[in-house]
Amino acid sequence: MNLPTDRQTTFESSWEGATVLGPEEHGVQRKQIHPAVLEVVSRLSKAGHPTLVVGGAVRDLLLGRTPKDFDLATSARPEQVKALFQQARIIGRRFRLVLIRHKGITVEVATFRAEPSRKGEAAMIMRDNRFGTPREDAFRRDFTINAMGFDPLTFSVIDYVGGLKDLKQRTLRTLFSPQVSFTEDPVRMLRAVRFQVRLGFQMDPEMERTIRAMATEISPVVRHRLAEETQRFLTGGFAVASFQRFQELGLLKPLLALQDHRWFFAHDALENALPKMTPYLKALDAWAEEEREKVSPTVALLGLLLMLGHPDYLAFLAAEPMAVDRRRKVMNAFRRGVPDMLAEWGLLKGQVDPAMFILLAAHSLLRDRWKARFHPGRLMGGIREAWLLVALLAGHLNLDRSFVAKGLALLPELPVFPILDHPRPDRHGGVYDPRAKTPPRLKPRGEGPPAKRRRRGGKRGRGRGTGG
Ligand code: ATP
Ligand code: MG
Repeated sequence: MNLPTDRQTTFESSWEGATVLGPEEHGVQRKQIHPAVLEVVSRLSKAGHPTLVVGGAVRDLLLGRTPKDFDLATSARPEQVKALFQQARIIGRRFRLVLIRHKGITVEVATFRAEPSRKGEAAMIMRDNRFGTPREDAFRRDFTINAMGFDPLTFSVIDYVGGLKDLKQRTLRTLFSPQVSFTEDPVRMLRAVRFQVRLGFQMDPEMERTIRAMATEISPVVRHRLAEETQRFLTGGFAVASFQRFQELGLLKPLLALQDHRWFFAHDALENALPKMTPYLKALDAWAEEEREKVSPTVALLGLLLMLGHPDYLAFLAAEPMAVDRRRKVMNAFRRGVPDMLAEWGLLKGQVDPAMFILLAAHSLLRDRWKARFHPGRLMGGIREAWLLVALLAGHLNLDRSFVAKGLALLPELPVFPILDHPRPDRHGGVYDPRAKTPPRLKPRGEGPPAKRRRRGGKRGRGRGTGG
């Protein structure tokens, strides 16, 4: 890891040590880059702040794909960036980013970041908030293919890390030894599966061995990061392949952490979750393939947890007949235990409440099926998402096709329920803060749901997992 110590290096000379490919050499085309990105880069550069496209966007450009979003890195500080654009706001606490709204897209601009300070050899990252050079910024990323830069003004690719070679060989490789990289941030093991499955790349064999050995190290990661990562695997069209891979590598159990909420999950799911969830994952993939209405990741996750839950919960949702005392027990759980479980499992406060609305709406739809078209609940919050959830679970609930079709036909006229799906702050470069790492302390529980909803610091969801 030979990083420059001299922070004063000018932008141009800082390409030193990098492989630079000019416009004729890399095959990226101008039309792959959104015009808003070109304008943002050009305005920053004119103000004296060299700026690069970085991360996954460069990888996608080189693979001939159109990136789904563009991350920029610049030498300007967040305040300086904000001052240059009208529609800009600073987000994030530990490391601040600027979100610029321009020509209908949001461009994320970060200041070049220095290599994080480590406690020692192969220790997890303690702090990741110092400004640095483009080269340092490259070396703090996860995989070589995600660590290249693209300069839209000279139209050149800047590669300090050997990403071009790995891209050509279709290999996923960490920047340092996998052991060091995954100790720094265990979530990278999940990300490795994401890129392997989505891009069809191979894992460097040492990486694969390391993941198998270190899989359980994801357990202490703050739950909402794991939940966010899990969501990303559900809606992209690669759910079955990804979760199979998690299982193979030993990542599935620590990721799902079902044993922390034994009262909610079904016995067979606790033992072996994959077969139980596969039909649902297939439904998600089929949905993505048919390019239907977009499913919110929160809804997708909710469906997954229900599939893995005790059958009583789904039976209740589907308004199946049930003995009075069983019914009462389940209702109590939905009122008290389930919101807590969702929050402890990793959903954010902004997701838990909408999730409960959606469940309520789904129950109401399934209870009054005959009213489908003119269901009084069509004005309920979350009704659109409830229909999506019902459609995804249709195979499992043995629902009548025509009933589901009616609901799907309604979708375009139903309002989208606001759900905070992707918490942006602190995501970028996603190294985790060990101070925020303590897993939620679960009180030992019996088989039933907790009797009373616990409140923490007055508001549910706040500070969860951040104690300690
Ligand atoms: P996608 O196309 O799925 O969005 P991406 O590569 O853009 O893939 P993001 O999660 O959007 O992935 O992250 C953007 C970039 O930030 C990555 O390409 C990588 O360089 C860096 N990054 C993200 N997470 C981490 C991490 N945990 N450790 C190091 N670098 C990371
Ligand atoms: Mg991205």
